[in-house]
Amino acid sequence: MAGIHVFLLGAPRIERDGAPLKLDRQKAVALLAYLALSGQPHQRETLAALLWPENPAPDAYAYLRRALWALNNALGPHILEASRNTIGIAPTSNLWVDALEFRALLAACRAHAHASFDRCPECRARLHEAATLYRGDLLAGFSVRGSAEFDEWQIAQAETLRQEAAAVFEQLARCENAQGAPDSAIAAARRWVALDPLHEPAQRLLMEF
Ligand SMILES: [Zn+2]
Repeated sequence: MAGIHVFLLGAPRIERDGAPLKLDRQKAVALLAYLALSGQPHQRETLAALLWPENPAPDAYAYLRRALWALNNALGPHILEASRNTIGIAPTSNLWVDALEFRALLAACRAHAHASFDRCPECRARLHEAATLYRGDLLAGFSVRGSAEFDEWQIAQAETLRQEAAAVFEQLARCENAQGAPDSAIAAARRWVALDPLHEPAQRLLMEF
């Protein structure tokens, strides 16, 4: 795949033209994830306080500049847009982010005018793609040192995405079952159960197949 691809669902990884891109700084990865998922520019002040809350402001600003430099260096020009006060993803960047693609697929299903969701082949294909994109929890195994606020943001975002994944797996299971693929239905229902083994509706659906 040409261009920059950011994978945040599961262990984070970044690729350029299909090859892994090395980004050593954890906080640069955190900054990219935060900007990509929030979908809007943020004040430098906010980002510095988010990622370096334990440092005096001038040091935090300097670290933020370094993280920005590392990101620009790795991603190339025109991906990030930084002004004196704000940093964001450039609207023209065409940056591909798995979590945004995942959400767009789910949103397209929810907005689709179909007679029967379970029997809609287009939604089945979208859900299948979304389920493939969901490799695991947001930023699995990833954490930044010394920022409780970033931790909280990550936990909250991961939980929201997990709920969206549950909706994807549940509906995918129903679509696969209704469209004559019981094995795929069972596989999708198992993924739903795996998100929360104590969730009874997921257990019940799995038993239906
Ligand atoms: Zn549909």
